[in-house]
Amino acid sequence: MHVTTPGLMMDGPLLVRGIAERAEQLFGHREIVSRTHDGVERSTYAEVVERARRVASSLQRLGVRPGDRVATFGWNSVRHLELYLAIPAMGAVLHTLNIRLFEEDLHYIVGHAEDRVIFLDASLAEAMPRFEGVEHEVLMPDGPGARDGALDYEQLVADGDAGFAFPDVDERQAAAMCYTSGTTGRPKGVVYSHRSTVLHTLIANQADSIGLREVDTVMPVVPMFHANAWGLPYAAAMAGSRQVLPGPRMAPADLAALIAAERVTFSGAVPTIWQGMLQLDPPPDLSSLDRVICGGSAVPEALIRAFDARFGVPLIQAWGMTETSPMASVSHLPADPPADEDARYRLRATQGRIVPLVDFRIDEESGGELQVRGPTIASTYYEDESAAEKFTDDGWLRTGDVAEVDEGGYIRLVDRTKDLVKSGGEWISSVELENAIMAHPDVLEAAVVAVPDERWSERPCACVVRSQGSELDGDALRAFLADRVAKWWLPERVEFIDEVPKTSVGKFDKKVLRRRFAGA
Ligand code: ADP
Repeated sequence: MHVTTPGLMMDGPLLVRGIAERAEQLFGHREIVSRTHDGVERSTYAEVVERARRVASSLQRLGVRPGDRVATFGWNSVRHLELYLAIPAMGAVLHTLNIRLFEEDLHYIVGHAEDRVIFLDASLAEAMPRFEGVEHEVLMPDGPGARDGALDYEQLVADGDAGFAFPDVDERQAAAMCYTSGTTGRPKGVVYSHRSTVLHTLIANQADSIGLREVDTVMPVVPMFHANAWGLPYAAAMAGSRQVLPGPRMAPADLAALIAAERVTFSGAVPTIWQGMLQLDPPPDLSSLDRVICGGSAVPEALIRAFDARFGVPLIQAWGMTETSPMASVSHLPADPPADEDARYRLRATQGRIVPLVDFRIDEESGGELQVRGPTIASTYYEDESAAEKFTDDGWLRTGDVAEVDEGGYIRLVDRTKDLVKSGGEWISSVELENAIMAHPDVLEAAVVAVPDERWSERPCACVVRSQGSELDGDALRAFLADRVAKWWLPERVEFIDEVPKTSVGKFDKKVLRRRFAGA
């Protein structure tokens, strides 16, 4: 006879509401600093959660029901944080809109998600198009800026109920959604559940992932309008960390000044931002930083070295995608690190080890593609017929990233499946070649794209941004690369450009470069 023994523990749902309630109960006094157009606003978790209750009750009064999509179009700000808590906690779905997308994509996304209400920053009032079907716009006052017909955020707060009790919801219901930029076809909607969001927050706060603590002052530079700011707002709220939200001024010099003024200990941003800080003259005061996280695109080893040398700040690489909540791997040195310094840097420049609760495998049949599955990974896209292409028949997400894994389980992304250069039947990793080029002291940025070649079918073309005043030429660069990469990887074509074109989320836009150079 088959006997089962049920566990005898309570069964509580994992809800975003719980993150808000904990912050209110335990960390009510901890400060939230939010920079506006011309100053800073200071509040606390107690005020933020009370205002979230008020906004939620006002939304309910406007007719928003559980499951309805409510969008945001905003910078990283205290009001955005209030909405990160209020909208999921009331059972509605927080839909963050990427403010940098093309208007056509925005129209598609808002229509596809059927957003009923949109919250927008006053500073973005002119940038945001008018959407059909949206019943209410709500203006958040982060500076000057007006919008005909919009409701006023502060009025919704004032009219709301401070004692509004967040309802019970099913942990498997949607908490938030975010569309990926989609390199092919239409943007695709990833829908996070309460459960996946809480699990991701717990994963983020593992000591060997980003491990936020109450004593930290956390500044998410990664936008709240894309991929949940890597989960930092929730992770900080769960830990009780003080938060500094940088608002509309996102230039490296402004961010560095805010880090120094507010004594930020932890921050997360894409490589371009940290690269930008290295260029500042005079050098910024980053002495308050304890560590920073970097990802979203490959982190050059040279950047990690420069941060150690210049600022004494460990730059930790993480990898993920919108579909993975987003953090899926983090690179910390192992308990038995290599004795050799170069080997340690090589390891830190990998994408690291996969986070707990997520499984990974490399699919050799699809050219070494990294595939993942787990409770923080999307299982499909929101009402999308082409979704099946991104998932295997046995239920794994196809990341589109090509990876190698070393014996310690460290993942090294060698490329996107679509960015590899196929030369004479062999693969050249555009990412590794870029890294080797960016190790040259005169190179600010470099992107490698495939160009058609009669003999080899494809060859790498290096698009290089020189530092100011440098006279580096193709021959000198090839000489520098000669003992760093295989001979047949050396790019015969080196194009010097003023800047590498970037996508809406700050990644190298290789499509543009391919268009520009592949024909020529
Ligand atoms: P989008 O799909 O809109 O470009 P995502 O943020 O979801 O935005 O992009 C995910 C992709 O970004 C990953 O599949 C990977 O190619 C790239 N990426 C993210 N982090 C890293 C990293 N640390 N190193 C290299 N590539 C990365």
